[in-house]
Amino acid sequence: MEHLFAAWQKVSLSIAQAPGVALLFDYDGTLTPIVGRPDAARLSPATRHLLVALVAKPRFGVAIVSGRTLEDLRQRVGVAGLVLAGNHGLEIATPRGSFLHPVAAASRPALTAIATALREVLRDIEGVLVEDKGLTLSLHYRQVPRGRVALVGRCFREVTLPYVRGGTVRVTRGKKVYEVRPPVPWDKGRAIEWILNRCYNGVQGKTLPIYVGDDVTDEDGFREVDRWRGISVLVVEKRRRSRASYYLSSPAEVAEMTERLVRTD
Ligand SMILES: [Mg+2]
Repeated sequence: MEHLFAAWQKVSLSIAQAPGVALLFDYDGTLTPIVGRPDAARLSPATRHLLVALVAKPRFGVAIVSGRTLEDLRQRVGVAGLVLAGNHGLEIATPRGSFLHPVAAASRPALTAIATALREVLRDIEGVLVEDKGLTLSLHYRQVPRGRVALVGRCFREVTLPYVRGGTVRVTRGKKVYEVRPPVPWDKGRAIEWILNRCYNGVQGKTLPIYVGDDVTDEDGFREVDRWRGISVLVVEKRRRSRASYYLSSPAEVAEMTERLVRTD
């Protein structure tokens, strides 16, 4: 994996030669720094300004693909003309129409039951945050004292196992978060495929997709973008194994990349 700026000459050439560029971002840890509480992850005015400038460029499209709900993303981003994909792409809004995964809503009763059970068993553990996001559920444990993290994991497995075995939900992990999702084969990669087909006519070679993300669930996005011969960028402090071709070290470097793109024709 090479640092994106070390390869910038090569990368900027393929960007300059592409008829269209689809710039796809994860939100938390990519456009904003990772913070203690997910509530506090605000887009800086400078980054918002850069997104506005990118959307205004005729050759560029911008999308944000996140585990947050669509409504939450909409409020946090506040930029018109973007494609927003919430709940790992189970709900997508574009300037021309929207998408809701048809099977996803069927898991809703199981998710409600799991949220209730988790709140009950974890009620005495300080720092736990159970976030019911409608189509998915997140259990955040970043603020749980270190000695109790294993207990949180055990409780999570105990509560979710019957539902996982029954095929009503599936579970995934991210940075200090467990996630419960509908048992549908849908992830950030599928969401990106949907976006590229719908919003960019799905013509490989005509649109160059660039995906930037920092977490395990972003690997599906990198895989999809590779399939389109695009550019995959992992945001990471310490290098780790990843499918991404390039890396950036921080959300500040992501902002710098965006700035470089704004200066491109
Ligand atoms: Mg992230």
